[in-house]
Amino acid sequence: MAWSVTGIGVGEGLALGRAWVLAPASFDLPRREIHQQDIEPEIARFRLAIDGIAKEFEALRATLGQEPAAEIRAFIDLQAVVLQDPLLIEATIERIRAESCNAEWALVQQFQAVAAQFDAIEDAYLKERKADVEQLVERVLKSMQGTENLATVLAQQSQEPNGLPWILVARDIAPADMLLIREHQFVGFATDSGSPTAHTAILARSLGLPAVVGLQTLHGMVSQGEEIVLDAQSGVVVGSLDNDLRDQYAAQQAEQALAQEKLKRLKTIAAKTLDGQPIRLMANLDLPEDAPAALEAGCDGVGLFRSEFLFMNRQDPPSEDEQFEAYRQVIVAMAGRPVTIRTLDSGADKDVPAISAGRSQPTNPALALRAIRLCLAEPELFMAQIRAILRASSYGPVRLMIPLVSGPQEMVAARRMIQTAMAALRTQGLIFDEGIQIGAMIEVPSAAIAIDSLIAHIDFASLGTNDLIQYTLAIDRTDSEVAHLYEPLHPAVLRLIRDVIKACDRAATPISLCGEMAGETSLTRLLLGLGLKEFSMHPVEILRVKQVVLRSTLGELVRPVSRLLRLPEGKKIRAELQKINA
Ligand code: PEP
Ligand code: MG
Repeated sequence: MAWSVTGIGVGEGLALGRAWVLAPASFDLPRREIHQQDIEPEIARFRLAIDGIAKEFEALRATLGQEPAAEIRAFIDLQAVVLQDPLLIEATIERIRAESCNAEWALVQQFQAVAAQFDAIEDAYLKERKADVEQLVERVLKSMQGTENLATVLAQQSQEPNGLPWILVARDIAPADMLLIREHQFVGFATDSGSPTAHTAILARSLGLPAVVGLQTLHGMVSQGEEIVLDAQSGVVVGSLDNDLRDQYAAQQAEQALAQEKLKRLKTIAAKTLDGQPIRLMANLDLPEDAPAALEAGCDGVGLFRSEFLFMNRQDPPSEDEQFEAYRQVIVAMAGRPVTIRTLDSGADKDVPAISAGRSQPTNPALALRAIRLCLAEPELFMAQIRAILRASSYGPVRLMIPLVSGPQEMVAARRMIQTAMAALRTQGLIFDEGIQIGAMIEVPSAAIAIDSLIAHIDFASLGTNDLIQYTLAIDRTDSEVAHLYEPLHPAVLRLIRDVIKACDRAATPISLCGEMAGETSLTRLLLGLGLKEFSMHPVEILRVKQVVLRSTLGELVRPVSRLLRLPEGKKIRAELQKINA
């Protein structure tokens, strides 16, 4: 009799394979008394494990090369930072000395003390970072106990005769290990812990692997080598398959593989609706290294380069020259396609410690000094970025985009600084695109509602629906307790999107959409019907959205979509939208 466990599906597709169950390091360890003369050797043993892991991280970093998933680098860096945290490492050493105990026990005690502090934090994002510390502690324990780590598991796995591929089943997977998973033969992974905003989930999306997270009990249920199916679509893991069920899943998987292959053929086909409307499909990039993946997906350019990632995991902000090099790299890679560089969007869930370190912690980070507000308050920092973007604009078409604009005043102030930067560059004899397009992200409701007064100050606009939804519905996008209320199809959100597109069309101002909605195929026809002609999304989503565009007739969408907007709530809109998508 088949069993199934339900969690949260992440990414796309279905994996059929054997479970490789990764044993977690035990946190339930005995306390051993260490004699006075053995204390320093015990500390040395602990330090050896820490140094070994630091070297592992170094080696992993070195293998990154042209790594397309920028998040992986960020996560390894984050784990490396935790590895240096005195609250964990030095405090453990103090404990070994003070309590004459073994290193493993001291580390677990210290972890529990740190974990209690995390539990007391209200911020959901920070709370989740407890998992990062836990993963690291597990890694240290495994290293000291000599239990299997993923690298040894993988070495073993490659000796195995060919058979069903492997699905990794773990209590949790450390981000650094995700890199190893991708380079080996795993076809998916399932974890007991995790939520849609946890690192493993973010990585699954960017690696394109099907995954199910938050399974709670799977790890204890499944046995090594057992055949299982992992369905990211419905978020289930199924085991004890009988022949009928196995055939059913195999057929479904073959269908998906075929669809995926077919999708690749669309790469060179122009995105156009059946009635001939060209649609631009652009890529969202986090780091310059993401550019090859975007080109591989056949993007028409970069609709959003999130420059803040250049500022993360470091002590000081990047210099003007360093930024110039990063922007130039993307522009050159895009070979004449437009590149939209968003100026620093730090703050809220994207904290940049290099900048926030000297500032007091805001009580409500999402409503505080973030993005353009912060840049205007830090003119030196902003000026270095503007100069870098302008200098890079001599290498190809660049659009400079300002985030979190709430009204004309911020655009006026930003433009004034851009003019100052241009004048200085002219004096220095440095070249740049004199006609560079300057635009705004429309992600604050005030900017969307009063779009008419903003239009005179912008050359283009891009709807940042991730934030527009959060601010319109007053839902913190990182808070799991209100996540169920986050509704892209709320009529208020859709009316704002419609009104912004209409106003921009009237003024002949190019308008795009670069929030997650742009990559959701179930929303493509809705957005086409609202008049959107430029979408910007994660590269893995481009071909899927193109497929929907190619199968849609714009003329048939406008009326039914406008009728949807008269419905009172998201649930009803979703039901009607299904008919339009059918
Ligand atoms: C948005 O808010 O929709 C957006 C694209 O920006 P970010 O997700 O980086 O805030
Ligand atoms: Mg935003």
